Amino acid sequence: MIVILLGPPGVGKGTQRSMLEEEGPWRKVVTGDLLREAARAGSELGRKAKAYMDAGDLVPDDLIIDLVREKLEAMPDGADVVFDGFPRTEPQARALDALLEELGTAPDRVVLFTAPDDVLVKRVAGRRTCPECGAIYNVHFDPPGTGGICDECGAELFRREDDRPESVKRRLEVYREETEPVVEYYVRSDVPVSRIDADREPGEVQASLRREIGR
Ligand code: AMP
Repeated sequence: MIVILLGPPGVGKGTQRSMLEEEGPWRKVVTGDLLREAARAGSELGRKAKAYMDAGDLVPDDLIIDLVREKLEAMPDGADVVFDGFPRTEPQARALDALLEELGTAPDRVVLFTAPDDVLVKRVAGRRTCPECGAIYNVHFDPPGTGGICDECGAELFRREDDRPESVKRRLEVYREETEPVVEYYVRSDVPVSRIDADREPGEVQASLRREIGR
C-alpha cells in the first residue's frame, strides 16, 4: 500500500507517521529527514539544500526527485510505503506518479491533515527534535521526561533552524502557494483523498488515519 501524508508544517505528519510505523513494516520516504541527514553529513546535496531549508524555502524539484528515485529504487517490490513531506509541488506529484508507474505501482491514498494556523505556529515554535532517533517532542504539549534529553535514546534534543518564528511564517506561505495545489492535483486524479482534523489528541488522529487507510 502506498500512502501520501500531506499538510502544513506543524500539523503532526511526522508524529502520525511514527505512530503508523508501530502498526507494521512501513517503509518511509521523509524528504525533510533525508535532507537534514545530507546537510549534517556535508554532502554536495546537503550543502545545496541547507540555505533553502534555513530560509523556509523549498529545495529545487530536480534535487528532491533524484533523492526520492534513489530511495524508491532501493525498496523491495510490493513494500508498504508512507510519504511524509513529499510531494510538495505539483511537478513533484507528477514525477512521483511517473516513478511509481515505472515500478508498476501507484498511490493508494492521500491523507490531508488540517489544523488552524495559530495551532500550527504554536506547535512548530515548541517543537524539539532528536538528532539521533528522530523522536519529536513539544515543550508545551509533549515535553520529554528530563529537560532537553530524548526519552527514547538519551540524545540531546535540538530546535530545527527552520522552526524559528521567522522561518515558520515563510513555510506556511510556501505551503499555501506550492503545496495546496498538490492537494487539488490529487482531488482531480483517481486517488482517494481523506481529510483529517489534526487539531485533536495524537491518538485520536491516529485512529482516524488507520480507519481511512483500512489498517
Ligand atoms: P520538513 O521536515 O518536511 O518540514 O522539511 C524541512 C525543509 O526541507 C522544508 O522547509 C524544505 O526546505 C525542505 N524540503 C523537505 N521536503 C521537501 C520537498 N519535497 N520539496 C522541497 N523541499 C523540501
